[in-house]
Amino acid sequence: MATIDIPQIRLNDGTTFAELGLGTYKLTGDEGVAAIEAAIGTGYRVLDTAVNYGNEREVGEAARRAIAAGVVTRDDLIVTTKIPGRHHGYDEAIASGRESNATLGVERIDLLLIHWPNPRVDKYVDTFRGMLALQSEGIVRSVGVSNFTEAMLTRLIDETGVTPAVNQVELHPYFPQGALRAFHDAHGIRTESWSPLARRSELLTEPLIRDLAEAYQVTPTQVVLRWHVQVGSTPIPKSADPDRQVENADVFGFALDAEHVEAISALERGRLWDGDPLTHEEF
Ligand code: NAP
Repeated sequence: MATIDIPQIRLNDGTTFAELGLGTYKLTGDEGVAAIEAAIGTGYRVLDTAVNYGNEREVGEAARRAIAAGVVTRDDLIVTTKIPGRHHGYDEAIASGRESNATLGVERIDLLLIHWPNPRVDKYVDTFRGMLALQSEGIVRSVGVSNFTEAMLTRLIDETGVTPAVNQVELHPYFPQGALRAFHDAHGIRTESWSPLARRSELLTEPLIRDLAEAYQVTPTQVVLRWHVQVGSTPIPKSADPDRQVENADVFGFALDAEHVEAISALERGRLWDGDPLTHEEF
């Protein structure tokens, strides 16, 4: 199978990241390992897991197999995991990162995120400080967050003096997050899109998306993923299927006209479910 060259970018701490990565939620067991290994073979380098997906072992196993097979080197991969709400706090974050690192078994965590801010618990600043301690030790390479608002990012930067490298948020044409993206761009924070395909909802059969797919001679999924690339966010589509993984990564051979990017952004209608970080908590 052909390998796709997914362009690399640099995060604000100088480390390498990519313009597109792999979501792994629900990729578990032997089938999960095989699916993740296939994706690495296709050219995926950013692998997105979390303690709460229950598949760090599988992600680590797929990475080790791909390295052993000579498909990639350890340094090619950017293994991301996330601290769950029940591990918020300085000491708890350190223990959580250590445990994730052991479960993954790939020497270090390349990018560690706070999964949800859980503002009522009010421990995300201490959690981030714990992550910075892990970074000083070398267990974690880059530190970032997920589901943070502008106000939360501002507080984190003010209180720790460190700007997170990444904020991974719900982002797709139904919820394009224009204001938050502009804030990220102004502060050097990389935007990463979760549920970039809107979880294969009716988005992929929207007349606009279908018409553009026909016009550009690509698939509806490729139109949507190319839109993410052009608005400057790293999408992490999840697919268990090697052919769909190839389809999803193959978005660097064409470009949407600016007016089409804008038209796709105008599909905005709101979140997929009630994942508002001001009220939604996950532990
Ligand atoms: P998604 O990537 O938007 O959509 C995944 C769905 O689309 C799956 O059902 C997949 O099925 C299907 N699909 C993938 N490629 C396709 C294609 N080319 N054609 C047709 N269908 C296709 O949704 P997601 O899994 O919710 O989000 C992606 C990743 O974001 C997650 O896996 C996770 O890593 C991350 N995430 C993070 C948070 C957070 O709070 N930080 C929240 C949600 C998700 P098949 O597998 O059968 O192809």
